[in-house]
Amino acid sequence: MSTDNYSIFSVLREALRGHTGWKPAWRDAAPKAAYDVVIVGGGGHGLAAAHYLAKEFGVTNVAVVEKGWIGGGNVGRNTTIIRSNYLLPGNIPFYEHSMKLWEGLEQDLNYNAMVSQRSVINLFHSDGQRDAYARRGNAMRLHGVDADLLDVAELKRILPMLDYENARFPVKGALRQKRGGTVRHDAVAWGYARSADGRGVDIIQNCEVTGFRIEGGRILGLETSRGFIGAKKVALACAGNSSRVAAMAGMRLPIESHVLQAFVTEGVKPFIDTVCTFGAGHFYISQSDKGGLVFGGDIDGYNSYAQRGNLPTVEDVCEGGMALMPAIGRVRLLRSWGGIMDMSMDGSPIIDRTPVEGLYLNAGWCYGGFKAVPAAGHCLAHLIARDEPHPVAAAYRLDRFATGRTIDEKGMGAQPNLH
Ligand SMILES: Cc1cc2nc3c(=O)[nH]c(=O)nc-3n(C[C@H](O)[C@H](O)[C@H](O)COP(=O)(O)OP(=O)(O)OC[C@H]3O[C@@H](n4cnc5c(N)ncnc54)[C@H](O)[C@@H]3O)c2cc1C
Repeated sequence: MSTDNYSIFSVLREALRGHTGWKPAWRDAAPKAAYDVVIVGGGGHGLAAAHYLAKEFGVTNVAVVEKGWIGGGNVGRNTTIIRSNYLLPGNIPFYEHSMKLWEGLEQDLNYNAMVSQRSVINLFHSDGQRDAYARRGNAMRLHGVDADLLDVAELKRILPMLDYENARFPVKGALRQKRGGTVRHDAVAWGYARSADGRGVDIIQNCEVTGFRIEGGRILGLETSRGFIGAKKVALACAGNSSRVAAMAGMRLPIESHVLQAFVTEGVKPFIDTVCTFGAGHFYISQSDKGGLVFGGDIDGYNSYAQRGNLPTVEDVCEGGMALMPAIGRVRLLRSWGGIMDMSMDGSPIIDRTPVEGLYLNAGWCYGGFKAVPAAGHCLAHLIARDEPHPVAAAYRLDRFATGRTIDEKGMGAQPNLH
């Protein structure tokens, strides 16, 4: 590896010499004329795919091209929640694969990504919702995933600050996944970038893809703001920009782009040491290590490519928070921001080949693609290297909307804004 090996000894050595000896975490690579594989998009998914391609499949003549900077997209904008508490057989094995990779990630990358399995607690507020959550918990346990139902007495011990007697939304219990939690989002991008670079991958920032060269139905390379780059294989991992980038290759994706906002408050003393989600509205919250309450809610509800949101959604999210834990009413909101979500028609992702030979697609992550980063990267690398889907991602086909094999976790139908 051409990068530093982070260890207690290297930290001590650098402390003694004023931190003058660290190498950059990744090189500022310039594009070569051609690569075996080019990945478009330096977010979590693209960088993870590059890492696994190099590490597990021995494919190192790889470039990741990013129009902005590493971590500037959704991977650095999300609310950092990881979990594998899914219901459907198409989803559970994939997200559990991801959870297992999270559990070994820091050792794998030799990088502190602050993986914190502090548990994810989904509250329920009615008998019908309890039954639905019990069913989900049973499905998880049948797949070997941890899940337990909490009653109010136990919840009060863990989350004493909730408004249990709220007349409209009384808290009646919760489904918990103890292994769920949070991970420091931009450290994930940096850790994967560092590891991929150390294995020979070129990470090329400020390089926007503007077109594709396709001849006889086969990909030959990409037009970029830094010139043409030849490639035997190209993979798209462009999250909220997936439909725009795929359109340059002549594809119309079953995806809409929507804005999702996130919020962080001023730092406060330890208040909540789990991730908690409101079951009667869209609100989820955790506390960062700096003390800020990190929370989010629903998408803004209209199609957009703008990385900022609107005040009505700010109000809606804060109302959810106030209904659940009135104690946060006097905390000051410090920052809010937006990211662009690639909302698919059934709420589930796509990791598949495309009609263009040598062109692969990773998209449709809606607002749950951060927890998927390790598995999506691993499965995309598998697909690129072996030209066949990884078994846990076999259901994430592009043609499932035409064949009727949708994976509609929420049962919402073809309404991307509702998933
Ligand atoms: C506010 C918010 C909260 C969220 N909360 C959670 C959560 O708690 N848990 C969870 O699991 N998920 C969450 N998500 C979703 C998750 O962040 C995304 O699904 C995931 O990060 C998307 O994959 P990515 O990291 O590869 O995307 P990105 O980081 O967006 O990477 C895509 C990259 O492609 C680049 N790109 C686009 N077009 C081009 C081009 N033409 N040429 C070159 N590069 C290009 C972009 O610049 C971008 O850097 C949240 C998202 C947001 C916005």
